[in-house]
Amino acid sequence: MKRVKHIIFWLVVIGIVLLLFSTHVIAENDFSQQRHALVSIIKDEAMTVRGFLDQETLDQQVIAALLKVPRHEFVRDTERPFAYANRPLPIGHGQTISQPFIVAVMTDLLKLKKTDRVLEVGTGSGYQAAILAELADSVYTIEIIEPLAKQAAENLKRTDYDDVHTRTGDGYYGWEDAAPFDSIIVTAVASHIPPPLIKQLKPGGRMIIPVGAQFMTQYLVLVTKDANGKVTTRQILPVNFVPLTGKH
Ligand code: SAM
Repeated sequence: MKRVKHIIFWLVVIGIVLLLFSTHVIAENDFSQQRHALVSIIKDEAMTVRGFLDQETLDQQVIAALLKVPRHEFVRDTERPFAYANRPLPIGHGQTISQPFIVAVMTDLLKLKKTDRVLEVGTGSGYQAAILAELADSVYTIEIIEPLAKQAAENLKRTDYDDVHTRTGDGYYGWEDAAPFDSIIVTAVASHIPPPLIKQLKPGGRMIIPVGAQFMTQYLVLVTKDANGKVTTRQILPVNFVPLTGKH
């Protein structure tokens, strides 16, 4: 009798483990399907703004990164059902994880190479940093709100992007110790292009930054520095970002 009870106990344990495992596999498959659906929406939207972007399609490597990074791991539990909607979502402290289409466009405009060192200003949830980590050699990201910086570091660790360098601080001043950077991405709107960031951009480097004011006209601006250090800017798209804060 004791032996029968023992066998039943282990059958129940194995059953529960199998059930949990299969539920997890089904959920991951569902998220993967949602990522594919989101990427088709992003591709269509990119076609509609091809005139602004000066290109027909987004880079295949950027598409592959969007298909791989689990956006649902970078949002709060209550937002998980909407993780693959093509819109920004709240992440707390009045901040948002950016719209996936805008993440795709900004990333694409950086034209990243596998050898690049990238700086992100405005870590938020850590999602954009994970996308960058798929495409570059090293990623440095700064967030001004400490609890968000901590949460983003946890998100990045849980999803195996723990080689991303995270820091709490005012990104207006860049990351002097890790400079210069091949690329810089700013994910909050600034009234002007921060001079410390221009300084920390390598010759031949690219920066993408929203410029304008909150609730007013804002444009994504592509900043390029040529081999001689000459800086040129080009307005790309009208956008809508939360402000770059800090004492500057
Ligand atoms: N890239 C983020 C993501 O993938 O979730 C979304 C960024 S959210 C639109 C903008 C972020 O910039 C906010 O988390 C905000 O706290 C941060 N931020 C604003 N001003 C900043 C500054 N001066 N330095 C660093 N981060 C700043």
